[in-house]
Amino acid sequence: MTSFPTPSPDAPRSLSILGATGSIGTQTLEVVRLFPDQFDVHALACGGNVELLAEQAREFQPEHVAVGDAERADDLRAALDDGSVTVHVGEEGLCRVATHPTVDVVVGAVVGFAGLAPVLAALREDKQVALANKETLVVAGPLVQAALAEGEGNLLPVDSEHSAIFQCLSGESSDNVEQVVLTASGGPFRTRSADTFDAITVDEALDHPNWSMGAKITIDSATMMNKGLEVIEARWLFDLAPEEIEVLVHPQSIVHSMVSFRDGAVKAQLGVPDMKVPIQYALSYPARWPAPHERLDWTTLGRLDFETPDLNKFPCLRHAYDALERGGSAPAVLNAANEAAVDQFLRERISFPDIPRLVGEALASVPIVSDPVLDDLYAADARSRKHVQELLGAPSN
Ligand code: NDP
Ligand code: MG
Repeated sequence: MTSFPTPSPDAPRSLSILGATGSIGTQTLEVVRLFPDQFDVHALACGGNVELLAEQAREFQPEHVAVGDAERADDLRAALDDGSVTVHVGEEGLCRVATHPTVDVVVGAVVGFAGLAPVLAALREDKQVALANKETLVVAGPLVQAALAEGEGNLLPVDSEHSAIFQCLSGESSDNVEQVVLTASGGPFRTRSADTFDAITVDEALDHPNWSMGAKITIDSATMMNKGLEVIEARWLFDLAPEEIEVLVHPQSIVHSMVSFRDGAVKAQLGVPDMKVPIQYALSYPARWPAPHERLDWTTLGRLDFETPDLNKFPCLRHAYDALERGGSAPAVLNAANEAAVDQFLRERISFPDIPRLVGEALASVPIVSDPVLDDLYAADARSRKHVQELLGAPSN
């Protein structure tokens, strides 16, 4: 086996990992394990899985931890019985550990709207943010752009498509970019007849062909809302017009995305589907650290296929383009309706086609505010969730 030398250590970066117990969070800690001299884990934060957070705290010895679910705070304190770790609670607690003066880099890996406040707070405190939480940019892209423009904070993409685009844009002038092409696996139902979508079960929707991820993003991949959210994410990350962002279905998930330039050249970034690669790049940038992640084997690759997405079969993608076009609080409404609908689907209370239906109905009915401030976005989020609940006549949790 190839041996990978450890890079010579600079000053270790002090990390605050939000969403440490999730798919991205645990893979971030795998990267930290590979490069122990590069990092000091200052803070770890979770939603409610305090058992795993306590285990992580015993291994990585953070000074601070945060738990989103206030009802689990005492369990976390009990699990960390020596009292040497400070426990923070709720959204305020997340913001605290995202902005602590000691922290250099914040990993934004909370799922959903809950990830917005700590990421904005971190950027406003001039932190470097490695961002997985795409909902932050979907809901509040202009506010994130403003925070970046006004302060010294930085944003590095973790999402594999955006990491690919970021790498393709390296050394290029934005004037030369003609189009960005986001690739999509197409999810588990790419070839399934839409006539049978009513019968899709939660287990079928959670069975992603190429990626192992948290439940919410896995359902988003099945509806292709994930790609819609990523279009909006790309719009704000790279300051692109909506018509400059194309989506192509690429079932093998080997080409992570592409950029075409005005002279006809196209750059693509390829690799085995493994989130540890973009996570590591967001943490090592501009360096590349030698790592044992799986290599692409060209001899067994076979073929790479590309096809146009079917917006009739996957209306969530169309809804996302519509929300981006309408602007203001429309993407926040889209995102909240989607989060509420996905939650209901995961609880087996609605069918798979109900997800795009509910998102479309929320977008058609919830009033849209132009130039929203943060409070407007919280209000839009709450109204949209409420609208979905009312449409379903269902309890809110
Ligand atoms: P998971 O569901 O696996 O993990 C979500 C994390 O967020 C958990 O640590 C969870 O804590 C935490 N969390 C949830 N709600 C709260 C809250 N209210 N306060 C604090 N923490 C909370 O999701 P993923 O890791 O899959 O995804 C995370 C983000 O990264 C998403 O925005 C997703 O779209 C994005 N992303 C994920 C990719 C992947 O491969 N997984 C790829 C690209 C982007 P707990 O479990 O303790 O409740
Ligand atoms: Mg992605």
